[in-house]
Amino acid sequence: MTQTIHPQGESNEVPQRATSAAERLVRAARALFDRGLIVGLDGNLSLRLPAGDILITPSGAVKGWIEPRDLLRVDLQGRVLAGPPGARASSELAMHLAVYRARPGVGAVVHAHPPSVVACSALGLPLLAAALPEAVLVTGPPVLLPYATPSTDEGAAILAPQVNDGDCFVLERHGSLTVAPGLDLAFARTESLEQLARFSLLAWQVRGGLVSELTLSSELTLSAAKLAELAAVRRRMGWATEAV
Ligand SMILES: [Zn+2]
Repeated sequence: MTQTIHPQGESNEVPQRATSAAERLVRAARALFDRGLIVGLDGNLSLRLPAGDILITPSGAVKGWIEPRDLLRVDLQGRVLAGPPGARASSELAMHLAVYRARPGVGAVVHAHPPSVVACSALGLPLLAAALPEAVLVTGPPVLLPYATPSTDEGAAILAPQVNDGDCFVLERHGSLTVAPGLDLAFARTESLEQLARFSLLAWQVRGGLVSELTLSSELTLSAAKLAELAAVRRRMGWATEAV
């Protein structure tokens, strides 16, 4: 016989109802907002439902305040199949769909405006991705995409030719787009990318702003042998998605 779980209860039972896709997407949106990776109306998140449709956040809403009922379900052509009356899907829907159409193994897409990532891209400061094991493991090599006007189809057009080149995309002067088979890893990649950018900014400050010195500095890059070990861990953990 199973017992109902109460927060103060003493039961060790596993809760009977799994968290729904909509609840998980809302939880991730709130976490991005709480950590300052999105502010105001920024950001959008989506995941692929078992039937193949996409669940995505609405346009023009504060993502830290949304509820599961605010989400929209769209098909791979972007047609709205379900959602609140009058609601529009995210203004970056085209970028999300470009990923899902090209990469059947991707199950979640997170677009945020992580401040250090945006600062690095605006300054032309390279991310020191081969310097930190977590960056090698979780983010993989970031792909820098040239500037596109946000909330237009330009972003999807620029992304499309490079959509298979990595799992973390830096949108110049704008933000990040991270993808993964599941929402947890797509979310973790956004956080790891921001952490990598913070490290890169700090390193740049300590070195007196000499970008060329940083990028050429071998002591800031892990050795080839260490990178090979990390690549093996990455494959074992299932974080090396598809061709990356
Ligand atoms: Zn954006």
